[in-house]
Amino acid sequence: MPENYELLLQTLEASLQQATTVEEVRTLYRAYLGVKGSIKQLYASLKDMTPEMRRVQGPIFAEILQRAQAMFDARQKSLQSGEHDVFLKEHARSIPLTVPKMGHLHPLSRTIRELNTFFVQMGYSVIDGPEIETDEFCFQRLNVPADHPARDMQDTLYIEEPNLLLRTQTSSIEARILATHKPPFKFVSAGRVYRNEKVNKSNHFIFHHYQGVVVLPDTNLKDLFSTFTALFRKMYGPDVVIRFRNKYYPEVEPGVGPDMQCFSCHGKGCTVCKYVGWIEMGGSGIIHPNIMKMAGIDPTKWRGFAFGLGLDRWVMAKYNITDIRTLLGGDLAYQPYCHESTL
Ligand SMILES: [Zn+2]
Repeated sequence: MPENYELLLQTLEASLQQATTVEEVRTLYRAYLGVKGSIKQLYASLKDMTPEMRRVQGPIFAEILQRAQAMFDARQKSLQSGEHDVFLKEHARSIPLTVPKMGHLHPLSRTIRELNTFFVQMGYSVIDGPEIETDEFCFQRLNVPADHPARDMQDTLYIEEPNLLLRTQTSSIEARILATHKPPFKFVSAGRVYRNEKVNKSNHFIFHHYQGVVVLPDTNLKDLFSTFTALFRKMYGPDVVIRFRNKYYPEVEPGVGPDMQCFSCHGKGCTVCKYVGWIEMGGSGIIHPNIMKMAGIDPTKWRGFAFGLGLDRWVMAKYNITDIRTLLGGDLAYQPYCHESTL
């Protein structure tokens, strides 16, 4: 490139380095690359040249234009970032230094993930089911016909009587699994359930269940007890104290329920455990032959057990939460309890 053109670019480079504001760079741009700028004029002079000269000068002018443009771009960029830094420094003092509150996973979500991890390691699959259910899957297929007294135990919220309702238990998922899958299988499922309950420290009209269903060629209560024992130890440590009591549920025969020694009073009796020292943690049992038959599964060839855990109680016991209402309150105050848990 001819020397005089190199000199032109060097002058431009020096001027750009001296420019300390974006506005100064813009002024230089107009002087060099604007419509009447010196480099733009140089380029425009091509049209007055002979074709031979144009062939020689054209590429030179194009290179000058390109290099000048690159210089402007680079300087503009460095100034803009620098000005941003200056702006931040000038305004830093006026930015409040309070740390914003950070959200975290809800204790319910954490507990569901821990339970899912445990059961997946035991060979279970995780499945979901609808919260709006039909009478058939929430009751009839679980051995609770329309006139069964067990319905009185669950004050149901109906979307449309008599058939469409908010599920009162995740056993409805069990009914769906049995109706749609061929054994052998092992499933767990977590979800919200709804009952027309009075809201107080221990009860809510929205709460959560964790359901498990196992159907194998042969299984028994011993497998159910060992599953629960391993689960309680995993969730609450090796020293957890549990007991099993015989219970009645229409969908199982026999029915049993695990109780855990109260996490709040350690068996001494308090308001959380209603002074009995134990907390009911769920219900379970061997799946009733009627239910297997309704699902088209031969109860002479297959045996199964099912369990439903009162998930809110599992969460409350794990995080030492003594009022069920706080689980749906969105209060971050329980964060200190959450860091002990692993996701
Ligand atoms: Zn207690």
